[in-house]
Amino acid sequence: MSTLMGQMMTMPLMISSLLVHAARHAADTEIVSKRVEGDLHRTTYREAELRSRKVAQAMARLGCVAGDRVGTLAWNGYRHFELYYGTSGSQLVCHTINPRLFPEQIAWIVGDAADRVLCFDLTFLPLVEKLAAHMPTVQHFVLMTDRAHMPAQTGLPNLLCYEELVEAENGDYAWPVFDEMSASSICYTSGTTGNPKGAVYSHRSTILHAFASTMPDAMDCSSSDVILPVVPMFHVNAWGLPYSAAMVGAKLVFPGPHLDGKSLYELFESEQVTFSAGVPTVWLGAINFMKANNLKVTSLKRTVIGGSACPPSMMRTLEDEFGLEVIHAWGMTELSPLGTLSKLKAKHKSLSPEAQHRLLEKQGRVIYGIDMAIVGDDGTEQPWDGKTTGDLVVRGQWVVNGYMGRPESPLQQIGGQDWFPTGDVATIDADGFMQITDRSKDVIKSGGEWISSIDLENVAMAHPSVMEAAAISCAHPKWDERPLLVVVRKAGQSVTRDELLAFYDGRIAKWQIPDDVVFVDELPHTATGKLQKLKLREQFKHYVLPTI
Ligand code: ADP
Repeated sequence: MSTLMGQMMTMPLMISSLLVHAARHAADTEIVSKRVEGDLHRTTYREAELRSRKVAQAMARLGCVAGDRVGTLAWNGYRHFELYYGTSGSQLVCHTINPRLFPEQIAWIVGDAADRVLCFDLTFLPLVEKLAAHMPTVQHFVLMTDRAHMPAQTGLPNLLCYEELVEAENGDYAWPVFDEMSASSICYTSGTTGNPKGAVYSHRSTILHAFASTMPDAMDCSSSDVILPVVPMFHVNAWGLPYSAAMVGAKLVFPGPHLDGKSLYELFESEQVTFSAGVPTVWLGAINFMKANNLKVTSLKRTVIGGSACPPSMMRTLEDEFGLEVIHAWGMTELSPLGTLSKLKAKHKSLSPEAQHRLLEKQGRVIYGIDMAIVGDDGTEQPWDGKTTGDLVVRGQWVVNGYMGRPESPLQQIGGQDWFPTGDVATIDADGFMQITDRSKDVIKSGGEWISSIDLENVAMAHPSVMEAAAISCAHPKWDERPLLVVVRKAGQSVTRDELLAFYDGRIAKWQIPDDVVFVDELPHTATGKLQKLKLREQFKHYVLPTI
């Protein structure tokens, strides 16, 4: 007996279809960009789709064929957006590069991905000039500007002008339909733990991620939103927002390189932004600016904060003083990036505000398409009791199963299934709320018991005089490791070691209180704005903790 098959159309999930949809159904919805050149540029989805077709034609004219990689070194802006669609849509692979990496790392990544074309903003001309000789795979350098802003002199051979390339084309181009498993884009991990590795996304994974991320329990995006991604388009595709915004036809506002508190605030207000997303450090700048100038946001309703743990004190400030809903999210480059977001279930609505907050401060619940588990040292699944910690593993439609050019699989077999080990340590409670307690390499193991560095940092960050804090492990003769707190004070503040340690009383178990506090002028950060614990541990390798 033959099985009855579904009788439904099959349409491969193509990234180009997002922009085609937006151009047809949100044709005059705006895409506003603060340009590197300093001015504000306005376009629409209709125009962006046309220009993306021209980008596809221009890349073909440069000799690019299916599967070729096009690198970008660029801020959030409409030209970068056109490149996303023009390359992926024509079966090329958009490789976004983080310009904040060390120059040698950038050259290494370009070589590893074998980028054939490199498109870059004016800001990065000196960098590219310096690196060109070390990027032998690149055949064409394209400066993302118009003729008027092209440099009179440059060390780059045959430097091309983006606007000239686009304007030379007629847009008479039909988006091709091909295997939805084809590579669409590549993003490299920041390489805090070894050489960067390329996560290679597919059309299918990108579209499924966009579907899931727009849902109400995720980013809750709709056509009535005005979305400003503070998170860069070179940081895991701005968490997928250039795709999700097109999917729902939301207005997009791109801040370009202007990520300071003042510039962001002005853009929030002038464009009536309703939704934003970024790492905790960028919100520090915005909060400081708004507080110092006694300003409020009038249209901004909610923001996703992730990439590293959002300190509860920051959540409170944004909620209580600025009326924002803060959605705490966890993800990784290897997850495109969304894994979990913190949203309450119906049954939590009757909890006290305090209890609700404790849930919302966690990294949250998975969205459909991702599953997660925590496993112990012996590889067995740990209980979801909100207390037991374990190594966090995930599986799903937009999770990597390998890395660019590497034969070995990163996956781990648990219970007969493939799981991706995240390198994070977490708890999961009975309602599925996951809470990251550490990265496995950052845990502080005191007398065999784990102390969460994130917990220690969250308490310190709640002190009014603390700007930023990092908790790291320090060698200890009796306990093996004990926590050391490294702190940057807010300008003009003079909080002392003893005052800070006293601040921990009652906020955390006594044995977890750091043994010592060191004040520094600044903490080392990775290219994506995360604390570089490895470097800090190196710096304090020989630090001797007080004995009492
Ligand atoms: P990399 O892993 O190279 O640093 P990613 O941007 O992929 O770059 O970072 C993913 C990691 O960032 C996660 O594995 C986790 O350690 C951390 N992270 C992301 N979001 C959060 C969050 N909300 N809370 C705590 N840690 C987070």
